Amino acid sequence: SYDNLSGRTAVVTGAASGIGAAVALRLAGSGARVALLARRADRLETVVAKIRANGGEALAVVADVTDDASVRAAADAVHAAYGSVDLVVNNAGVMLPNPVDDGRIDEWQRMLDTNVTGVLRVLRAFTGDLVAAAAEGRSADLVNVSSIGAHVVFPTFAVYGATKAAVTFLSQALRAEFGPRDVRVTNVEPGLTDTELGTHIDGEELREQVAGMFEGMGALAAEDLADLVAYVASRPRHVNLRQVVVQPTRQV
Ligand code: NDP
Repeated sequence: SYDNLSGRTAVVTGAASGIGAAVALRLAGSGARVALLARRADRLETVVAKIRANGGEALAVVADVTDDASVRAAADAVHAAYGSVDLVVNNAGVMLPNPVDDGRIDEWQRMLDTNVTGVLRVLRAFTGDLVAAAAEGRSADLVNVSSIGAHVVFPTFAVYGATKAAVTFLSQALRAEFGPRDVRVTNVEPGLTDTELGTHIDGEELREQVAGMFEGMGALAAEDLADLVAYVASRPRHVNLRQVVVQPTRQV
């Protein structure tokens, strides 16, 4: 099988819904133990129950990636339950488009703190684990979920795109530090994917416009992204898919 992950221990952020939930389900289905992080306890428990019903091993850890203490406490909880981890999926994110001249510094701050600093907080909490796993000769993966918005320009998405460009840049830059220590870094850039991401948009017109894109070109399913994450993490240790850009076929 191409995606055997038995013996691996994973952390997935933003695992309460969408891509993160699908990734957690898929990694557990491939044999990994999975710690699921997000803010909504009830939604995490639903995903964990599904994993356990399928015979997998999973743990829900309520965490807010914008809060240092919360991420630290989550890492402690993961380490207490599972010990060291070797696969970290930085997926938690928010997309809050609006015209720049609306000056929504509240939304800008939240996107930066979740999508960029959140990734760094999670990285800080688990870097030691990844480096140690690799030093022991085991596979070690950092997977960051960016977006095609990192380099495709959409009106009203300037700040969201900037946060994702930061994630893409970070992923590339981190390889310079981690690659020589055998820790793989993979940057995933999805196109339109059917999740809850667009439901948080503040403004009915923009929300409907984004929802309408799905009718026009269809979308990837969260499971399609999960499949790719399972694939990259299960390659032989010397093979690092460093950049994965994936879109629905009809999205050009
Ligand atoms: P969802 O809204 O379904 O999932 C986002 C997840 O992030 C939720 O589980 C949410 O859980 C979690 N989250 C949000 N804020 C925080 C926080 N402060 N701390 C911890 N967890 C948080 O959308 P997607 O699955 O689409 O999004 C996943 C990633 O995919 C995002 O980074 C997004 O930018 C990226 N992406 C999505 C695309 C798409 O078309 N859907 C395209 C390109 C990239 P909770 O609210 O419980 O904390």
